Amino acid sequence: MDDRKIRKVLIVGGGSAGWMTAAMLSQALARDCAITLVESEEIGTIGVGEATIPPIRVFNQTLGIDEREFLARTKGSFKLGIEFVGWGAENSRYFHPFGPYGRNFDMVPMHQYWLQARRQGETAPLDEHAMAWHLARAGRFAHPSPDPRSVMSTFDYAYHFDAGLYARFLRTIAEQRGVTRVEGRIADVALHGETGFVEAVTMADGRRIEAELFIDCSGFRGLLIEGALKTGYDDWSHWLPCDRAVAMPCAHPAADPNPTPYTRSTARAAGWQWRIPLQHRIGNGYVFCSAFLDEDRAADDLASSLDGAALGDPRAVRFQAGRRKLHWNRNVIAVGLSSGFLEPLESTSIHLIQANISKILALFPDRDFDPATRDEFNRIAHGEMERIRDFIILHYKLTQRQDAELWRHVAAMDIPDSLALKIAHFRRHGRLIARELDLFAPPSWLAVHIGQNNLPEGHDPLIDYRGVDGREWLGRLRGAMAAEAAQQPMHGAVLAGLAPQPA
Ligand code: FAD
Repeated sequence: MDDRKIRKVLIVGGGSAGWMTAAMLSQALARDCAITLVESEEIGTIGVGEATIPPIRVFNQTLGIDEREFLARTKGSFKLGIEFVGWGAENSRYFHPFGPYGRNFDMVPMHQYWLQARRQGETAPLDEHAMAWHLARAGRFAHPSPDPRSVMSTFDYAYHFDAGLYARFLRTIAEQRGVTRVEGRIADVALHGETGFVEAVTMADGRRIEAELFIDCSGFRGLLIEGALKTGYDDWSHWLPCDRAVAMPCAHPAADPNPTPYTRSTARAAGWQWRIPLQHRIGNGYVFCSAFLDEDRAADDLASSLDGAALGDPRAVRFQAGRRKLHWNRNVIAVGLSSGFLEPLESTSIHLIQANISKILALFPDRDFDPATRDEFNRIAHGEMERIRDFIILHYKLTQRQDAELWRHVAAMDIPDSLALKIAHFRRHGRLIARELDLFAPPSWLAVHIGQNNLPEGHDPLIDYRGVDGREWLGRLRGAMAAEAAQQPMHGAVLAGLAPQPA
């Protein structure tokens, strides 16, 4: 029988994108398909990318990965959300929690009662109605409760991990499931004379590797999707002008070795600084705009603001916000940095790898490479990136900082219409527009609007019909959350308890 099944897949690149793809495809295409991955130690990987969002847990679970082993192998930690420092006004701070704020007790969303209470003089910030915030503030962690009556069921979590160790862990899984790894540098890409499809890659030592489907995980260089197919790039740097980062890990401070169970993003003069605590170190980096700061100065600023002793020299990375015009072009699908880049403000790049892998599986081609399947893939991928882009721009647009050129620029800049509509809608009545397939649900948007002081002018008219005073209920909610948080173990103790037990 002449089936049209794809029998050879080549994954180009062995960073997080390459090995995540290899691990998942080797599970899905267990029979009749040879999967090869090429990577070059000489070129190396980007070596950053350590904070994630909750869907990563679904990815790991689908691969059958045990959380305890995963955290031990990647020196990972738990993440309850992101603390934003100095993003609204210079000395302000707020928390973007994973999961909702408390839970609704009425048909009107809970935050409308919080806004009402605020108008009546209540001073407790919105943060205090999120279980994740209470745990984070106390440096504590426990898994969410399955009991919907408990406030401990009202949060979600993700991980911080060492990206290099994660790729190595996934490599072991992929190789056990039959993936062949080829070490070496690809020097040339051969295209079919008529179709323009990629036929093979040629290694620097002359080896030729053929395949039917190529997954481009080659990082920013986009060896196949751009180098060979000239797909083109939509530049978004007019909305997201940061184009550089310097990274420099440090040791945990001796005085407080408990890793904070959250990421911190601190606004700086020409960008922002990340702080990602792992078990063995803290990842730090300064994402900045080169129009307003040079690399040496950024490295000095970063080095002088670390919590502990620096571990190594600063490493610089350059990028351009935007996306490849097509994520799937001919028989090449781009996954990871080769498909585009959004700065890591909301830790979304690894998620976008996961999202493209899910779409590869949902829309897996045969050798006919139906253009309609490809178009559907690109349509979804473009929408996913645009919605995340808007959410990231929101953080810049809502700043009230006027102390540096970058902040004056982003506060005044034009923004996409899709985002302008969401901001205007929230300002009017405090309502949040949820779109199909939004990665960031209304509570995430709420966190940024309120956290950066974009307070609505009016309120939900429905609340005037309810005759309910939510203040007492909100007070009880805060109290229950604080009491629960105080009973949970310290994050460091949870991690120590997860370490594999000696036999
Ligand atoms: P890379 O890691 O660059 O891997 C490319 C691979 O291709 C390598 O194996 C390389 O050897 C191979 N290769 C390239 N050319 C050739 C060739 N000619 N021959 C053979 N092999 C070749 N994401 C998050 O989710 N959270 C974060 O907190 C986060 N922080 C980030 C901070 C910064 C400053 C940056 C720039 C990115 C961050 N990211 C983050 C994104 C994250 O790092 C990437 O999405 C992730 O690492 C995937 O990278 P990759 O595998 O696509 O590319």
